[in-house]
Amino acid sequence: MIAVSVGASTHVGNVRKNNQDAVLAASPLFAVADGMGGVAGGEVASALAVERLNVFGGATAVEPSSVLAAVQAANTAVFERRRADPSVAEMGTTVAGVALTRHEGSDALLVFNVGDSRIYRAQGAALEQLSTDHSVVEELIEAGRITTEQAATHPERNVVTRVIGGEPTVQIDSWILVPSVGDRFIICSDGLSGELDDDRIAAVVADVMQADALADKLVATALAGRCRDNVSVVVVDVVGVGSTDDVADEDTDPRLLADQRG
Ligand code: MG
Repeated sequence: MIAVSVGASTHVGNVRKNNQDAVLAASPLFAVADGMGGVAGGEVASALAVERLNVFGGATAVEPSSVLAAVQAANTAVFERRRADPSVAEMGTTVAGVALTRHEGSDALLVFNVGDSRIYRAQGAALEQLSTDHSVVEELIEAGRITTEQAATHPERNVVTRVIGGEPTVQIDSWILVPSVGDRFIICSDGLSGELDDDRIAAVVADVMQADALADKLVATALAGRCRDNVSVVVVDVVGVGSTDDVADEDTDPRLLADQRG
């Protein structure tokens, strides 16, 4: 099994009146959803998506296919609610997350993404963005038409090209990773990545050891800026991998272990 330490934090930000982000931190699934489509619609979409992802009842691990099916179920729920209720006809939501899974008999992590919320992985001092934004500016960057710096102030920087609830079925980006003790995953809405560039996120990540303190610190650091958007962060630290005994060993002083055995 994979043992994790988790922190989550969400805030309305400095300007908006409603928080349309939603977070899920319920093992085996950790996710951020960033709703859009009017004041009411955004909140409905992100809440509905998180509700449809929170279906594993505290299992220590699930099949990757079950997680992807839950994301499709979230898409169906948002899409059908749009069609049934004209007041939320324009709504949709991003979803980005990490799930604890069993893949071909081994512990594995499933990372998944729709939209422009992000998953980063920190290993030591290095921070790497695992997900690719489904956004207009990302497409312009990939086409070589604008730089990352220009994307930060581009008028269409908030326009996503793929959302939960936009079509009857959704294409989900996903990756299966082998977990290592010390891996740290930061799942965030664009309220964080739009406010803090990767270097600033990396500096905060390197500075805070505990997962819950890190989630709070990242949100607080965004709030210290303009923070016009809602901002949400879920931190997942891998603290143990393998059998229950192996997990216990991670926290045991090696000399003490040797003494007991000797
Ligand atoms: Mg946002």
